[in-house]
Amino acid sequence: MQKNDIYEIEITGMTDEGDGVGRINGFAVFVPYTIIGETVRIILIKVLKNYAVGKLIEVIIPSKSRTKSACADFYKCGGCKLWHMSYEEELLFKKKKVSDCLKRIGGFDNINIDDVVPSSKISRYRNKSQFPVTPEGIGMYAVHSHRLIEMNDCLISSEVNKPILESVNYWMKKFGIEAYDELSDSGLIRNIYTRTGKSGTLVCIVTNGQTLPRKKELIDEIINCGTTICGIVQNINIGKTNVLLGKETKTLYGNAELTDNISDIEFSISPLSFYQINKPQTEKLYSLAREYADLKGHETVLDMYCGIGTIGQFMARSAGKIIGVEVVPQAIEDAKDNAKHNGIENAEYYCGKAESIIKQIVNRGAKPDIAILDPPRKGCDKKLLDVLSDIKSLNKIIYISCKPSTLARDLKYLNDKGFAPQKITPVDMFPRTPHIETVVLLNRK
Ligand code: SAH
Repeated sequence: MQKNDIYEIEITGMTDEGDGVGRINGFAVFVPYTIIGETVRIILIKVLKNYAVGKLIEVIIPSKSRTKSACADFYKCGGCKLWHMSYEEELLFKKKKVSDCLKRIGGFDNINIDDVVPSSKISRYRNKSQFPVTPEGIGMYAVHSHRLIEMNDCLISSEVNKPILESVNYWMKKFGIEAYDELSDSGLIRNIYTRTGKSGTLVCIVTNGQTLPRKKELIDEIINCGTTICGIVQNINIGKTNVLLGKETKTLYGNAELTDNISDIEFSISPLSFYQINKPQTEKLYSLAREYADLKGHETVLDMYCGIGTIGQFMARSAGKIIGVEVVPQAIEDAKDNAKHNGIENAEYYCGKAESIIKQIVNRGAKPDIAILDPPRKGCDKKLLDVLSDIKSLNKIIYISCKPSTLARDLKYLNDKGFAPQKITPVDMFPRTPHIETVVLLNRK
């Protein structure tokens, strides 16, 4: 078996990343853009020790779930993975992904997992987008690479991006403003990042340096592009890095804080703070978390990894007290402002790492009844889970995860520490991509 060999294989599984998996004499071959049950002709493009990667040449027997991609750039762009299948097939894949991780990593062989809560929108659902700017143009990166595919629209993102990208592109060409070049670490404009909410769209221009020439002309172009712009900011991010945003943000126009609401709670969101990207699904996700919390009104609720305070404030009126913890200082400032703005007086906030701050909170005499954990992809630090399991008053944990593998690892750890998973509900926040959110209710045994 070697590179450039051609084979006909049947697809029998899927990787966590959404690629089809087939076998050649027992040896695993990953083939992007294929579906379980299909027979396909492939050419091997990589043969490694434990697996090979094949490129699809032809679908010989298609799955009933195969669809024509609604996105013209799908097969070039690295953003989405699943436009070639029906949404029903995607939901089955996502449920299986959660179930496989819980079995393989968590050791939960017979645990019940609810059907995935589907997204009401499968295109145009993202309220946040980022488009790299390179000497090759503005667009998206190809799969697993920094090769730019020029495009001024993205089917899972808001329609507002197109006129914004066109106006920045026009301004760059007209005034000879250079794009940042990763190879030579030179040039100015690195990225265009947008976030859309109730108050309009916030445009963030990420630059490799402080100086931004032709600022007035840039502002004029953007605010006259035909969509509601609530603010324009410049974020300074200097040097060779894959991180999108630097620490410093300057307001060029309007308000740097975007406003949005989830149900009847209104939130102010600063550019560096985390905010869920699919709003209708966020309402469903938080409602499920609130249902699992089953608050009676007296409880103290820990909102760990609270971001701008969203989940806790969504529950605050049914709880005794909310204690929020978050590592990004701007997000904590937003959380405090949001509580005030929403008339929520029973929420307090701490800035720092959840695993370090939790001890302080307990030492101050807090007696939490419920903990909500909503960590980033890498999951929770064991130190946090250790302290939580030692809190006598704590009887319930609601774990919201955006990565099934780290969720499974942490659920196993918590199970050994005395908290058993009772309900597991995946919620699709990210249609057409392999990502899946999961809400889990755990009770003390
Ligand atoms: N619950 C919020 C945010 C979830 S995203 C919401 O639903 O909007 C995860 C958050 O955890 C981010 O805001 C991130 O800044 C924060 N974070 C990452 N590592 C952390 C840590 N070690 N301790 C506390 N917060 C952390």
